Amino acid sequence: MSRRDDSLVLCYHAVSPTWPADLAISPQRLRAHLKYLVDHGYRGVTFGELVAGGPGRRVAITFDDGYRSVIELAQPILAELGLPGTLFVPTDWIGSERPMAWPGIEHWLGGEHQRELIPMGWDEVRRLRDAGWEIGSHTRSHPKLSQIRSERMRAELAESKATCEAELGSCTTIAYPYGDHSDAVAAAAGAAGYAAAATLPAGAPTPKPLAWPRIGIYVHDDMRSFRLKVSPRVRRARATSAWPVVAGGLRSLRRRFAR
Ligand SMILES: [Zn+2]
Repeated sequence: MSRRDDSLVLCYHAVSPTWPADLAISPQRLRAHLKYLVDHGYRGVTFGELVAGGPGRRVAITFDDGYRSVIELAQPILAELGLPGTLFVPTDWIGSERPMAWPGIEHWLGGEHQRELIPMGWDEVRRLRDAGWEIGSHTRSHPKLSQIRSERMRAELAESKATCEAELGSCTTIAYPYGDHSDAVAAAAGAAGYAAAATLPAGAPTPKPLAWPRIGIYVHDDMRSFRLKVSPRVRRARATSAWPVVAGGLRSLRRRFAR
């Protein structure tokens, strides 16, 4: 692998100019992040393509949960920059027209931002697929897979895959809700027929096809924070004992600039 090669996987959720949730990012900020990568020679690929391997600087831009704002606000930005996206959908929620609700987002129910929680319908998901996006599973109901009984865990993996295949034709990738997984979960994902699975680790573990780390990008990630998070040098440091020093620097930068 040459020094010019890099494989980067980003994890976004919702896009909104007004929703002050951790997992929402403004369209302007999303566009600035992605343009920075394009300007630095990154080529967009889907998550499945990235895990399958290849040369050069590659980035997979993934979105979890299926918020309607992804097709309304993110897809036009990715299309303008010539980037494919990857969307991971919780199949019980898609097409329900009900606000999604699970620990981490359910406190937005009932307020002025509740409509941000409405998921896409399957026709919208198919439009993304037809625009070159990869659609993967995000389980059926969005549980922490390592913390439920193994029969239910296997059903969440297999039944969401079957639904995606019925609606979309194929489904070979998954993102574990909350990034939560274990060796048993990864083994079950492989047994269910997934070729690649995305996590959200705190550190930078060695990527494995069924436990592939992503970098989570959140509301406070301005350009300074984003450049640090995606920097190959910073990511290499995260994999070493130097990481606590770098992390301390990142935290103080964030305190200084995130206000
Ligand atoms: Zn999720």
